Amino acid sequence: MATAKSRVQCFICSKEKNTYSCKGCSHEFCFQHLKEHRQRIETQLEEIINDHDQFQQTIVQQKQNPDISPLIEQINQWERNSIHQIQQAAEKCREQVIKSTQKNNNDIEKKFSELSQKLKEIREENEFNEIDLNNFQLKLTQITEEFLQPSNTSI
Ligand SMILES: [Zn+2]
Ligand SMILES: [Zn+2]
Repeated sequence: MATAKSRVQCFICSKEKNTYSCKGCSHEFCFQHLKEHRQRIETQLEEIINDHDQFQQTIVQQKQNPDISPLIEQINQWERNSIHQIQQAAEKCREQVIKSTQKNNNDIEKKFSELSQKLKEIREENEFNEIDLNNFQLKLTQITEEFLQPSNTSI
């Protein structure tokens, strides 16, 4: 009979009423709960449309600004890190060279002042010959070379 067939339990309230079946989930609903069921499905559709629109926006933005692609951002980050590391290494090298140059200069100044003192002495005492002069000339050349080309520094 038609009445028997239409009087089925509603899936939500379990009351035997005139029901309507939803083709999507194959459940039976009374009129009230069918409306609610439809509303829930419509809300789900709106959420999907929202996600869809957001993704569309993302595509448009990336087309307009290719720079904001995550891969480009990764490359930028790698570039910044590499530059920072090189700068740190260069700064360390400069500090070492400055330190080493200062030490070298101190050594040379000491040798030079000793040489000056001896030169002054032989001049005052008027006690020198060609051998002394050759020795002084040699030492002066050595000191000059050491000053211009520090042997213990390499990069
Ligand atoms: Zn119901
Ligand atoms: Zn359904």
